[in-house]
Amino acid sequence: MERKTHREIVKGWYPFSREEIKQYVSRGIWRNLTFGDILDRNVANIPDKPAVIDDTRSVTWLELAQKADRLALHFKRLGLEYGDFVVMITPNVVEFYFLLFGLARIGVIPVMGLPRHRRKEVSYLASLHEAKAIVVPVGEKFDYVGMVREFRSDTPILKHFCTLGGPPVGGWTSIEKLLEERIEENYPKDHLAQFKPDPNDIVVEQLSGGTTGLPKGIPRTHNDYIYIWDYVGRREGNTDESVCLCIPPVAHNMPISDIAGPMFLRGGVTVITKSTRPEDHFRIIEKHRVTNVDLVPVLISYWMEAGEVMKKYDLSSLKIVACGAQKAKPEIVRWCIEKLGVSFCNTFGMTEGPVIATRWDSPKEAQLNTVGRPILTDELVTIKLVDNDNGEVPPGAVGELVVRGPMMTFKGYFRNPEETAKSFDEQGFFHTGDLMSVRPDGRYVVEGRKKDMIIRGGENVYPEPVEGWLMKHPRVANAAVVGMPDAKLGEKLCAFIQATGGQTITFAEVQQFMKEQGVAVYQWPERLEVAQGWPLTPVNKIDKRLLRGFVTYRLLEEGLIDVALGDEFLAKDKLTVDDIRTGKVKIDFTGSPG
Ligand code: AMP
Repeated sequence: MERKTHREIVKGWYPFSREEIKQYVSRGIWRNLTFGDILDRNVANIPDKPAVIDDTRSVTWLELAQKADRLALHFKRLGLEYGDFVVMITPNVVEFYFLLFGLARIGVIPVMGLPRHRRKEVSYLASLHEAKAIVVPVGEKFDYVGMVREFRSDTPILKHFCTLGGPPVGGWTSIEKLLEERIEENYPKDHLAQFKPDPNDIVVEQLSGGTTGLPKGIPRTHNDYIYIWDYVGRREGNTDESVCLCIPPVAHNMPISDIAGPMFLRGGVTVITKSTRPEDHFRIIEKHRVTNVDLVPVLISYWMEAGEVMKKYDLSSLKIVACGAQKAKPEIVRWCIEKLGVSFCNTFGMTEGPVIATRWDSPKEAQLNTVGRPILTDELVTIKLVDNDNGEVPPGAVGELVVRGPMMTFKGYFRNPEETAKSFDEQGFFHTGDLMSVRPDGRYVVEGRKKDMIIRGGENVYPEPVEGWLMKHPRVANAAVVGMPDAKLGEKLCAFIQATGGQTITFAEVQQFMKEQGVAVYQWPERLEVAQGWPLTPVNKIDKRLLRGFVTYRLLEEGLIDVALGDEFLAKDKLTVDDIRTGKVKIDFTGSPG
């Protein structure tokens, strides 16, 4: 009898249709391989070559496979079944990959929690996925074990509590201990083969910011991830000699799809670090002869500031810098090309699939000013730029990027029909919420965002939930959260708050209140403006455009930003700081929305 696959077992998932699978495979886009197949191939061909290196250890392909398989056997023994979910938070250590490949062997799905997630997100993820197990780090700055203890009684389905790193915790399973126990000696060599997943099974549950402030689940399959590894790898010129450095959290989509994944596929080396200090990065590049690094703009600006320190190190091995998550300004790109002497893969990417990027061999001008072309060209891929009525905009004009076909790597948000329905239109196009234009040479330029999302140093934050958390405070009558310009992070959060009946509220109180609610720090406002009333739109809504204008002008007056940054930030609102300074645009804080 045929074994059931995740398609039949996992409820609330939107798998690709059988027809899509057939088409994508027959066109050579999908390879019908699993993560385990890739691992086995590397063990057969390059067993003793380093696969992953962290701050203290180097692991070969053979060791990676042995450790992954050992964990897989332990997890089976603990009772984890094909199609179960495990919420996982790990720092940038090699064990992450033991877990990733170990779970992939047996079709158990890791939910990619991030170190910055707190009780609110983690407890939600555990309940949403009816997770049977959770893995959290010990010995980090934050007490994750204590956090889990706060909500574990509300999540009775959660049965297995595992620690990673640090001293063992009573009643919890230590991943290090499991890795020491040679459980495989009790089983035939091919024991795990019977649990082998299907290439169209979910291999990883990725996450993205949600409009509710809680993450949205993006189930990703072996087939769609391995396709991305292939095409991103081509764009970044990856070969078996590539050594790629990963600085962002390893579980995030970008490190898996753009850094480690292409290395797995090509047999290159993934180097990971916990450090965010530029000097450590330079030392690592020199030591391991790193050829590629994937960064976000804020990290590049830290590197730029450390230009003097950089001179002490030999970075001549570095050939390619890829950068995404937020718009990379031309001066950042120019610094990389001219000072680091690298080629720049300027990337627009989404966990949901669309990736548009410049290539290692694109002209410098294109790397400076555009995010290049879509990574996949196939007649099944349709990309359009549309206006508010979903009509295609004329050539050169700005429109929302919408995508259909095999460049998409998901079909819907996990157990979230509302967000899924909002994101796809009747013709099956995924609406990215990002505004772009396309040049006559087919290269795309990121022009802004339609969605009301703030990108803080590469982290996506939706304002509505932050407003909701603020409104729970007894002295907050109304709150509006907007992005404000920041030279390093691109944007930060500013909260406008109207206090109840003549009372007041301080910034420190706001911060404390977010902390008490277990909200992750990146969603806390970094500036407070106390408002007596509101500027309103013609339909009596709070005019966030004017709030952005107001706070931008304030920052300018306080010497925290310059005119160029202010104007650049306000461009999407069709405002300038001068409009506000001269009173051409009036901001009137007297209205009451309704
Ligand atoms: P995520 O799925 O978390 O990687 O977030 C995807 C979102 O990040 C996109 O929808 C964009 O809003 C934003 N993003 C990614 N790359 C870029 C880029 N190069 N320029 C501007 N925004 C970007």
